Amino acid sequence: MKQKIPCFCDKSFFVEFPEEPDLDAEPSFIDEMMDGSFMNFTCPACGKLHKPEFPITVLWPSKKLRLEVLPELDRGLFYRRQENPEDTETVIGFPEMIERIAIIRDGLEPLAVEVLKYFLLLKADESYPGREPVIRYDNSSAVGLEFHISGIRQDEYGISRIPMEVYEKTCTDYRTHPRAELYRGLRVKTYLSVQNTIRPDLPGQFKTEN
Ligand SMILES: [Zn+2]
Repeated sequence: MKQKIPCFCDKSFFVEFPEEPDLDAEPSFIDEMMDGSFMNFTCPACGKLHKPEFPITVLWPSKKLRLEVLPELDRGLFYRRQENPEDTETVIGFPEMIERIAIIRDGLEPLAVEVLKYFLLLKADESYPGREPVIRYDNSSAVGLEFHISGIRQDEYGISRIPMEVYEKTCTDYRTHPRAELYRGLRVKTYLSVQNTIRPDLPGQFKTEN
């Protein structure tokens, strides 16, 4: 797909990128996502680096993943959208895309990770009321899962580690009680995210899934 990028230097330039990047066919996309260079473009006139968010669908057939990635600007549009693609998961914004790809890469259950983020968010809100912390899964090891928390102090992020047993316990509980209110509240249509539990501007959306 070809798109025009307007630059601050008053010049515009065209860029080409795959609308449906396939991570099995091009595993280097995964590395680019993790190091932040995925879909970066440089203005040929002034050299400024652009990181635009264009809507794409990431395919990862070996993981049975079809991930619709919407630009952050279309967040409101998603909730109003009537038609939703089938057999597709949705994330909104490239940071959520990168996080979800890391979760799948590490063989984790996305819902359980969002549950852990939900509890970390509650804790952060208790310790730092009034802030708007953002919590992202970063990596995991035998010891546990590592999350980065930003938005509490300027230009700084904190690290939280959740022991593997807690993650496993969350997975077991989800398998036992998949219809529990918290689990249902994390998903709106094709979009699974802790963001769905913290949107007071969307009355009643906590109950949209049956
Ligand atoms: Zn430029």
